[in-house]
Amino acid sequence: MKKRLFYAVLLFCISLSLLGIYSIEKKIIIFPFINKRILALSLTIVFLQLLYLFGKKHQSKAYANVPKKERNKEKQSLKPSVKLVDVAGLEEVKEEIMEIADFITHAEKYKKMGAKIPRGILLYGPPGTGKTLLASALAGETNTEFIASSGSEFMEKYVGVGAKRVRELFQRGKEKSPCIIFIDEIDAIGAKRSEEGQSECNQTLNQLLTEMDGFKLEDDQIIVVIGATNRMDILDAALLRPGRFNKHVYIGNPNKIARKQILQVHTKNKPLSKKVNLEKIAVKTHGLSGAHISNIVNEAALLAVRNNREEITPLDFDNAIERIIAGLKMKNSTISEKEKKIVSFHESGHALVGKLLKVHAIEKISIIPTSQALGYVLNASSEDQFLYTKNDLLKRVKSILAGRAAEEIIFGEVTTGAKDDLNKATDIILGMICEYGMSNLGNRTFDSKMIYGNMEKINDEVKRIIDHCYEDTLKLLQENKKPLIAIAEQLFEKETLSGDELNHLIKTV
Ligand code: ADP
Ligand code: ZN
Repeated sequence: MKKRLFYAVLLFCISLSLLGIYSIEKKIIIFPFINKRILALSLTIVFLQLLYLFGKKHQSKAYANVPKKERNKEKQSLKPSVKLVDVAGLEEVKEEIMEIADFITHAEKYKKMGAKIPRGILLYGPPGTGKTLLASALAGETNTEFIASSGSEFMEKYVGVGAKRVRELFQRGKEKSPCIIFIDEIDAIGAKRSEEGQSECNQTLNQLLTEMDGFKLEDDQIIVVIGATNRMDILDAALLRPGRFNKHVYIGNPNKIARKQILQVHTKNKPLSKKVNLEKIAVKTHGLSGAHISNIVNEAALLAVRNNREEITPLDFDNAIERIIAGLKMKNSTISEKEKKIVSFHESGHALVGKLLKVHAIEKISIIPTSQALGYVLNASSEDQFLYTKNDLLKRVKSILAGRAAEEIIFGEVTTGAKDDLNKATDIILGMICEYGMSNLGNRTFDSKMIYGNMEKINDEVKRIIDHCYEDTLKLLQENKKPLIAIAEQLFEKETLSGDELNHLIKTV
């Protein structure tokens, strides 16, 4: 009703303005009451109404991905039916999520103890690995509301709009409590704040920080915020502080066992030929994400229908895998067995030397390709260290060179896989020489002008230190060839090893 009146007034004012302009232009009197003052008034009303309409359109965009029903706050919002059993693999992550689920369902128990319910969890890792799925499964397990949004929705060129949307999001959360607020692509809001310019980004991020700090929650209100990103490196440190996103969980691409489990979840209700061997399909999908695997299953089912088959056959799966991989044009996805073997030894070298020299505690070793590398060693986050001795830095360089050293020992030749390692090692050594006075060139620094003047000396010193470190690393790995081979073989077989498995292998060989 109100809407109709609004448009009637708009139409009336537009006609009045047009008539006014026409009569003033032609200097004729159509209606005696149309004068300049009335014209100005009607033009102003038209302008204000258009402004209102424009603002409304922008506001509704914030909820563009929320079903229409949802936008009406009186109505039910989303309660996902997904459960944790629908999320395959990711066992350690699921454990963490179960803890949070317990916080939500038995809030009283924790409140009695005076324990605070964790507010923010940050899931980070490559796309399609089940971050959204996991967040909605948490809502499904705890029968709570799931409010999904994406960081990019909050970025607008108009100052203040993003911040307002963040406020509205949390307002909705409070109304729906207990609930899970999921913010995908949180890096769009949470990128490091800049000093000037981008004041809109800063305002939006500040608003998010305020909401996460304060929440101004009533006693019985519970909101858990889950953020997801594949750009952890660009997030503002303030966002990662205690009280905000202080729990960070890495979710990488699945290993062979997890891929088989994902295949099981997605083929559960599909007619499979008895000849289909999910284990074999898991082997063929090395390096692919959960989302890719779910696409492959769907594609295989479509192919079976297209060929009028009653069941999905191994051939359908082979064709589907080929299609998906071809569509990806991923340089890493078709890695050969030989390359996989080299990467296994390379990463095992890093891990073993890191462990023997106590450089880092190791959380995970993996030969599952990411967009950046064919494999990686994930270091357990330990206390921040601010001071390093010269020996600390040299050990670090050795663990970095250990990938190449392992290749040389086992295969008698080296590969291009060590490019990033060599960069990192050279950077550390240059720092030792030019910034920290930790080389034979003395207790002094070199600024860029001096580096230019002493190029040859500095080059020689870099070479001396790096050669020395490489020799030591080769020797260490020669002496520990047995554990090196044992780790690499296990890694080749399982694709990922946890820190505990690594320790166990080193101890028992
Ligand atoms: P992300 O949020 O990490 O980009 P999603 O959670 O949106 O990834 O995953 C996309 C789809 O891929 C899911 O809806 C699901 O079908 C499938 N998928 C991904 N990971 C898994 C997993 N671990 N178990 C089962 N299905 C998965
Ligand atoms: Zn390496």
